Amino acid sequence: MSIDTQVLQEISLTPSLGVISHEEQKCGVTIWLTGLSGGGKTTISRFLEKELRTQGYRVAVLDGDVVRQNLTQGLGFSREDRDENVRRIGFMADLLTQNGVFVIVSAISPYRSVRQEVRQRIGDFIEVYVNAPLEVCEQRDVKGLYKRVRDGEIKHFTGIDDPYESPLSPDVECRTDQESVDESATKILVKLTELGYFQNQKASSNIPFHLSISVDSLELTRNFYKDIIGVSERRTGRSSIHFDFYGCQLTCHHVPGYSAKNIQREVGAEDVPVPHFGAALTFQEFSSLKERLIDYGIKFIKKPHIRFIGKGHEQYVMFLEDPSGHGIEIKSFTRVPVGTWA
Ligand code: ADP
Repeated sequence: MSIDTQVLQEISLTPSLGVISHEEQKCGVTIWLTGLSGGGKTTISRFLEKELRTQGYRVAVLDGDVVRQNLTQGLGFSREDRDENVRRIGFMADLLTQNGVFVIVSAISPYRSVRQEVRQRIGDFIEVYVNAPLEVCEQRDVKGLYKRVRDGEIKHFTGIDDPYESPLSPDVECRTDQESVDESATKILVKLTELGYFQNQKASSNIPFHLSISVDSLELTRNFYKDIIGVSERRTGRSSIHFDFYGCQLTCHHVPGYSAKNIQREVGAEDVPVPHFGAALTFQEFSSLKERLIDYGIKFIKKPHIRFIGKGHEQYVMFLEDPSGHGIEIKSFTRVPVGTWA
């Protein structure tokens, strides 16, 4: 067995690169997207909403335009009315945040002081500056508003003849004239991960996946999955064992002499065994499993390493085989919450 100790040491010494901090135990949070009309607030908020809902999180979107039609009708566009609009959105966001919801606010909210006021009120709050130069917003003119402003139909339009006070130190800045929507949204997800907001939120639609495989020896299989990998044995029959494999149901049927057949397929410029199954763990779980595998002298098919560097799905990964030759991939995303597709 040969293990590249340098690679392994590098991994254990790597600071938690965007990894969930276990000390932080938080639930709801308001993600406040501020910026000029056409900057990209609505687009990013839709992307985030879809991503978070797919993961089973509770999400509410408070869109400035929709709120004005339903909650703050009658308010105009004077500074007082704009501030009042933001305060009311803040009130709703606060209620929802306290009830464990991811609240995505998409509102121009041009004035710094009232943004600061709602930030203080809510506490669990991140300010995202959705930033694109006015010329870019005007060129996009998604809602045709800039044209109407230039035609003189609309007055007091933020960025043209009304002020926009950009955040002085936003938690996240998305340069939407230079980034893809995916990149902008990933920045926000990374920040939420760093701040620990995914820690205490449990996906509500967590339906366990089930996999049934053949194994040569029940004893070696039990030793591998239960004693070495560390997953729990839930049920045992005369010729099968059922494991809780990180929340999924793994059933191993005794088939004497069985040996799994894998072929090698290239993924991210390296050959990996296919088929394989596995799990995406937190960095802490990944690291302690890696240590256990080393202690037990388990042979890696692919030693622990980092791949897809700089991409949304950047991850630590290692490949191994169970005693019957089934390929197993264990990974840990560095930039997005566990289980999120980046
Ligand atoms: P807002 O809600 O801020 O008024 P919209 O989201 O309605 O802005 O419009 C922003 C436009 O910019 C959309 O056409 C969108 O496709 C485009 N766009 C380009 N890059 C990005 C990005 N990184 N994030 C968000 N939108 C982007």
